[in-house]
Amino acid sequence: MAPSDLRTHKYDVVVIGAGGAGLRAAIEASAQKAKVALVCKSLLGKAHTVMAEGGAAAALGNVMGEDTWRVHFRDTMRGGKMHNNWRMAQIHAQEAPDRINELEAWGALFDRTPDGRINQPMDASISGRSAGTPTAAWPTSATAPASR
Ligand SMILES: Cc1cc2nc3c(=O)[nH]c(=O)nc-3n(C[C@H](O)[C@H](O)[C@H](O)COP(=O)(O)OP(=O)(O)OC[C@H]3O[C@@H](n4cnc5c(N)ncnc54)[C@H](O)[C@@H]3O)c2cc1C
Repeated sequence: MAPSDLRTHKYDVVVIGAGGAGLRAAIEASAQKAKVALVCKSLLGKAHTVMAEGGAAAALGNVMGEDTWRVHFRDTMRGGKMHNNWRMAQIHAQEAPDRINELEAWGALFDRTPDGRINQPMDASISGRSAGTPTAAWPTSATAPASR
């Protein structure tokens, strides 16, 4: 590429990676009125995020009564043999239900319980349940996952 081909772009926020994490960051930055650039190394939408098919951990409490963020937090820490950054695990456990509901409001489809709530199949590894597909949940998830 010749130096004359180079162009300079100015953004408030540059997000590297257009999987779920990057897209969510870009949405939030844009919502804060920032001018956002999203950069990925492949086609937009070609990321591990679109391959996930088991579930996403979130203590929705739709199937089990004791399915709370505290249980989810405990299981996450146990699952990580206490090596987890506990504060990150806490934020994840506390905010996951809101994020699942947010995804649903944005159009994500979830399997339902007979009475119409987001379903939570039993998680394969820990004590919790997943919100999402009728198949087994992602093995590292804790309490209550959701899927596509
Ligand atoms: C087959 C499969 C099934 C899965 N099932 C589940 C499940 O059921 N439940 C669950 O919770 N998790 C599951 N996971 C894991 C989950 O998909 C990932 O943990 C999650 O999607 C990671 O999201 P992310 O946004 O961090 O990364 P990704 O979705 O991987 O996105 C990374 C982005 O970064 C970009 N990128 C990478 N390198 C560069 C670079 N050098 N320069 C620019 N851009 C770059 C990529 O192009 C991509 O856009 C599964 C993973 C796979 C592969």
